[in-house]
Amino acid sequence: MENTFGMNIIPDNDALRVEALKRYKILDTPPENAFDNVARLATQIFNVPISLVSLVDEDQVYFKANIGMGNARSTSRGVSLCSLSVMQSEVTVFENAPEEPCLLSNPNVAGNFGLKFYAGAPLTTRDGFLIGTLCIIDKTPRTFSGAEREILASLARIVMDEIELRLSAIKEQEKQQEYIEEAAATNEELLTSNEELSRTQENLVSAIARLADLEALKDIAIEQAKLGIWHIDAESQEFVPSIRLKEFFGYYPNEEMSYQVAVSHIREDFRTQVAREVDEAIQTGKSYDLEYPIIMFRSGQLRWVRATGKLNPGEKGREAQYSGTIVDITEQKEDEQRKNDFISMVSHELKTPLTSINGYIQMLAVKAGSSDDSFAVNILNKAARQTRKMRSMINGFLNMKRLETGKIPLDKRVFDMAELVLEAEEESIATISTHKVIFAPVEQTIVLADRDKIGQVINNLISNAVKYSPKGSEIYVACMNIAQTVQVSVGDQGMGVSEADQVKLFDRFYRVETKEMDTIGGFGIGLYLCDEIIKRHNGNIWIESELEKGSTFYFNLPL
Ligand code: ADP
Repeated sequence: MENTFGMNIIPDNDALRVEALKRYKILDTPPENAFDNVARLATQIFNVPISLVSLVDEDQVYFKANIGMGNARSTSRGVSLCSLSVMQSEVTVFENAPEEPCLLSNPNVAGNFGLKFYAGAPLTTRDGFLIGTLCIIDKTPRTFSGAEREILASLARIVMDEIELRLSAIKEQEKQQEYIEEAAATNEELLTSNEELSRTQENLVSAIARLADLEALKDIAIEQAKLGIWHIDAESQEFVPSIRLKEFFGYYPNEEMSYQVAVSHIREDFRTQVAREVDEAIQTGKSYDLEYPIIMFRSGQLRWVRATGKLNPGEKGREAQYSGTIVDITEQKEDEQRKNDFISMVSHELKTPLTSINGYIQMLAVKAGSSDDSFAVNILNKAARQTRKMRSMINGFLNMKRLETGKIPLDKRVFDMAELVLEAEEESIATISTHKVIFAPVEQTIVLADRDKIGQVINNLISNAVKYSPKGSEIYVACMNIAQTVQVSVGDQGMGVSEADQVKLFDRFYRVETKEMDTIGGFGIGLYLCDEIIKRHNGNIWIESELEKGSTFYFNLPL
């Protein structure tokens, strides 16, 4: 940097001073009225042609206000007299510049411009840095009194106040800008959230619409299936029946029907059992599937219903809820009834002629035996076996009918199970040649039960084992005492029963539907009868089985 003064013009703290100047963001900015006004005021007060507000930067001196010096906006620091003014805090005055040794080679003084008088009061920041001057210049020499120096210094303070004010305004503006930018960003975010929100809302609306469609479909399905439905309200634990359900029980849609009332309409002979099973299922969260008759309110009409119930697992924070359906099966029951009546009527009618045929066959067999006609004996024995089969089938139907109408009384007597099993063993030795029936030793066990019917159950299980397992395979029969019960088991190495079929095996007319079954005759009432007989003795009957490996049927009787 050039220096025309022949002396040091850079104060010791210049770096900090320049930094302080830059803080005001004023360097190299266009003229502003506030500064022009003070400079103009100075020219008027001191009656000089030129006044400048200068800012002394590292290399340049910028004129923030310039009155009387043309368009000059800046000059080099090494030429400007203001560079000298920022070297001291007092007002710098050259009353007759050409006489000053340090200004001899200054182009402003020595050159065409012809500067003769200069007075500059420094612009002092609050923290004491001299960042520029308010100066006045004349082209004729003049004196400058102490009072005039004071006035110039005061005007310099006004300029400094303006600079501070300007900075506050800039900061305020920046803050506003920041705020506006933040607001704009927030606005942007809001807009995006809004868009997301409206997208979510759209999704929600379409989900609700889909849900409504599904609900409507569900309602149609319920309507078409003529289903009465109910559920237990998760909050109030109240029983909530649908209108159709109320109709089933003979109630109007607007009439109250509590759970207890619904139970009281179940026909008496079914009531306790059904209520117990439903209660138990609800308590344990298990499903149920029951058929029972109800007596309708007011009309007293009988109606058969099939009732199912299940626990719906609560999803997404909702509690699990128990609900159920009821469907009218009166017609189906009546059809079944007619079919049963027909079967039992036919069975009944067949029984007498069959007994006669059996008698005739026996008579013929005796005769053939005495005349040594082995061919006839053989044929007649086969005929006798077939009639026995027919008789047991017919008895089965008749028993079923009697069971259902409660006409099969139990003839309970005290007897020894070991003896009954022994009889079964003797009969199997006499009648079964296709399989190896193995009886485990049985201890004497005295029970109170209907001996014939328990015998029927054992025989039925053994003949099923023969029917449903391959020729030559083994059948195990055991009878033992377990926990206050006597338990009989019949195991085979046959086709077995799938888990799904095991549940329905003891239902009336139920037969497993597989290809192998096509060639094995039967009506599906044997196990149903066994189940009824055992239940009436307060016992249990069940199956353990694995497909293709074999089955074991168990029943027990309380001791
Ligand atoms: P039926 O033998 O006249 O069909 P049941 O009531 O005695 O009727 O048996 C019902 C069904 O149970 C049978 O049709 C058969 O599918 C199955 N079942 C019974 N016993 C056995 C067994 N020991 N092994 C495999 N399946 C069996």
